[in-house]
Amino acid sequence: MSHLHPETVAVTAGRPAHESDQPLNVPIHLASTYVAGGELEYGRYGNPSWAAFEDVLGALEGGRCISLASGIAATSAVLDLVAPGGIVVAPRHSYTGTILQLEDRAAAGRVVLRLVDLTDADAVIAACEGAAMLWFESPTNPALEVADIAALTSGAHAHGALVVVDNTFATPLRQKPLAQGADLVVHSATKAISGHSDLIMGAVIAADAAHAEQLVARRSLGGAVPSAFEAFLALRGLRTLAVRLDRAEATARELVKRLSDHPRLEQVRYPGFSTVVSIVVRGGAEAADALTGSTKLWIHATSLGGVESTFERRRRWAAEADTIPAGLVRLSVGLEHADDLADDLIRALDAIG
Ligand SMILES: *Cc1c(COP(=O)(O)O)cnc(C)c1O
Repeated sequence: MSHLHPETVAVTAGRPAHESDQPLNVPIHLASTYVAGGELEYGRYGNPSWAAFEDVLGALEGGRCISLASGIAATSAVLDLVAPGGIVVAPRHSYTGTILQLEDRAAAGRVVLRLVDLTDADAVIAACEGAAMLWFESPTNPALEVADIAALTSGAHAHGALVVVDNTFATPLRQKPLAQGADLVVHSATKAISGHSDLIMGAVIAADAAHAEQLVARRSLGGAVPSAFEAFLALRGLRTLAVRLDRAEATARELVKRLSDHPRLEQVRYPGFSTVVSIVVRGGAEAADALTGSTKLWIHATSLGGVESTFERRRRWAAEADTIPAGLVRLSVGLEHADDLADDLIRALDAIG
């Protein structure tokens, strides 16, 4: 039933058949080995709890999903598709763990890295000449720049580069890169997909079967498999993604409205969708640290996409790009009431000395 809305798919896909005594949800399969002669054989090759999660996320993104132990394990599996010495083009504003991994591979001579400004589409496409892969996130972390996925994809494909989009911030409910021509989508399911800040998991979704098979092989060979328990929880979270996203976005828009003329803020950045807002506090690192140290509801913590609102000054991480303002604080908007979140934040901003 391909006409179903994504909200319906998120709830109905990946379930056992509607038959007497079948559970509604695929149970947690704790198994290292299976009786020989079937499809599964061994716990590193497959698990029904992974498969249920993969059916749902794959249906939402429009491709074949391979779950992995973390978002970074998904990144690693995808980068393993680049032949030794291949050129990888990536935005300089990317998730720090991705940049660290790319730099690590570049330092070891495994890839040649070309970092670009994602907002300059012509420059990104020009950098794809001779490249094996164009990798990007949109919106970017934490600058929240938005890319024209279809334009970058067709430009990169003209140079013969594989196109990978990290869709963690947007989620498949707001952006479907495979439908815009991308070859692979990467997710940190740790974030909005699972949504409760209680697990680490990742996934890759491939548009074509050949890439999917290569990635399944990477998972079996590399061993970065998710646990059955994490897969169960991630799917449980994914079932409610649509309502969580709708509410958190409504709150994010309200916060943006109320914060936009605050005298303590130099900038409020929000791409109009997703649960992430970035604010730039006047007074740099010191003022931003005063903010993150003085709220009652907003929790000073890294990561994003949970039901609880968190925030952090991104440049507290040494690996964050130095083109990100020192006073930039990334907000992950959760499900608390918008008034309470706004009051807490504005009181803390007002109190900065
Ligand atoms: C968190 C994150 C990752 C890494 O995922 P893990 O699950 O932490 O390994 C990759 N990309 C983006 C955009 C992220 O936010």
